[in-house]
Amino acid sequence: MNILVINCGSSSLKYRLIDIEKEHRLAKGLVERIGIEGSRIKHETTGKEEIKIEEPIEDHTKALELVLESIVHPEYGAVKSLDEIQAVGHRVVHGGEAFADSVIIDDDVMQALRDNIEIAPLHNPPNIMGIEACKKLMPDTKMVGVFDTAFHQTIPPVNYIYPIPYKYYEEHKIRVYGFHGTSHKYVTLRAAELLNKPVDEVNLITCHLGNGSSITAVKGGKSFDTSMGFTPLAGPLMGTRCGDIDPAIVTYLMDKENLTTSEINNILNKDSGALGVSGISSDFRDLENAATDGDERAQLALDIFERRVAKYIASYYGQLDHVDAIVFTAGVGENSEWNRRSIIEILGSLGLKIDHEKNKVRAKEELISAEDSSVKIFVIPTNEELMIAKETYELTK
Ligand code: ADP
Repeated sequence: MNILVINCGSSSLKYRLIDIEKEHRLAKGLVERIGIEGSRIKHETTGKEEIKIEEPIEDHTKALELVLESIVHPEYGAVKSLDEIQAVGHRVVHGGEAFADSVIIDDDVMQALRDNIEIAPLHNPPNIMGIEACKKLMPDTKMVGVFDTAFHQTIPPVNYIYPIPYKYYEEHKIRVYGFHGTSHKYVTLRAAELLNKPVDEVNLITCHLGNGSSITAVKGGKSFDTSMGFTPLAGPLMGTRCGDIDPAIVTYLMDKENLTTSEINNILNKDSGALGVSGISSDFRDLENAATDGDERAQLALDIFERRVAKYIASYYGQLDHVDAIVFTAGVGENSEWNRRSIIEILGSLGLKIDHEKNKVRAKEELISAEDSSVKIFVIPTNEELMIAKETYELTK
């Protein structure tokens, strides 16, 4: 059974075609600059050369038309006809409180997604556009929505209610939702396999560290607490996002600099974090290089990142009655020997120890803790697309 996985942003569409029984990727690609000058598609069928087409792509329907043409193209395609795609799995960022699991997309689900636009104005509209384009072009194919927030719907009220007047939860749904759920779920299932334990018996601290970062306490295989909150702005320092700050800074800065809400939003989402502190880059490779060359603010940005990730790990470690493993995943977590080492060294008093040789690993599953570490530490490359394909398969097979 072949599953098409679609991940739509406001001006981009990423896709993967996966043979789910073999867990084998048949094709992948990316449409960029949808609705903007210079739009293009990059498509690669596994085992064939990547092709690039530049042409005007005015909207998501046109983008998806090009994707489907590429997938069935006689020369560079992956399958002969669209009949060979049995289902489509859509990544949806915000399921709100309506979705604790993936769902088959029907009219009620579409309405619930529209209702959630208010709390996810940047993310849900492009996700909806992607689903609508698919419905138009593949009207008879089953579609599934897989939500970034779903895995975190098991978080108890004590961890999801903010200490502000309760009526704002009731009236405006202000609460912790948590994000990167598909990734935290994927590494949780993999960690349980690697630990050789039933998933509902594992306690983990999963660290998805990339441009955006979130850390999750997993208790009995379920999300118990997570660092992202009402939006993906909360948590440790990130590439360009501030993470946790004193909320009074927001109003103080707005007054001092005469800022509008959208200006302060931009500062906290796009000009802050590692970029804001270092003044150099949001990319952790650039920061590591600059810090190696003696740049003090790049070093400071890395120090803040590591300490804030460590604070979350320590807090979750203290709250879980035992921890089977700490897991590092995503761009920084999978690749950065430097950051993993520094984070674990901060936590030395908990008995955590890294094996420096094994910690050299990049983008490969590896147990990187020393034999006498109090807790096992794994690198597990995330695979959100495979997770989406698996959930889609389960609901449609
Ligand atoms: P996104 O949140 O956009 O999905 P990724 O998970 O792809 O992000 O992570 C991107 C981040 O991973 C970038 O900051 C990049 O610098 C970092 N990264 C990738 N490879 C390395 C590496 N070898 N060393 C340090 N950081 C790395």
